[in-house]
Amino acid sequence: MTQNSVFKCDKCELELPTGMGGYQYVEDMDQNRIRCDNSEDDIEIKQILSEYWGFSDYHDWKHLLEEHTGFNSYCVCLDCLNIFEADISKNIDGFMKDERVCPECGSLEISTELELVGSQCPACQKGKIEKVQKKILSVPL
Ligand SMILES: [Zn+2]
Ligand SMILES: [Zn+2]
Repeated sequence: MTQNSVFKCDKCELELPTGMGGYQYVEDMDQNRIRCDNSEDDIEIKQILSEYWGFSDYHDWKHLLEEHTGFNSYCVCLDCLNIFEADISKNIDGFMKDERVCPECGSLEISTELELVGSQCPACQKGKIEKVQKKILSVPL
């Protein structure tokens, strides 16, 4: 089940990337982050992981999961409004892989999209960021 939400300011035009606030990824041998959609589920992540890395026993496994999976959040720099992706929210095991720093301007004032919901809009400083459920098109009978 995919749940798409739109994150936007209720006063200005600021709109953030759509989705669940980010996505789960698996890292390949070249450290590219491969996006895994609809993989809430560990099982899928494990399948994808094993395709890239192969694994034989439980220990490899745990290690691979720790080292090579993560959650990329959509992030917003509160200073320059750069929108980027970074693994800065702790996952259930308490890991995060990236620094909370803007790749454009070096600011440390970073919010993830999800953190911004209900907060002041960094663009106009007036509105609030809202999470709006995308309407599902229904076909009239
Ligand atoms: Zn705004
Ligand atoms: Zn910045």
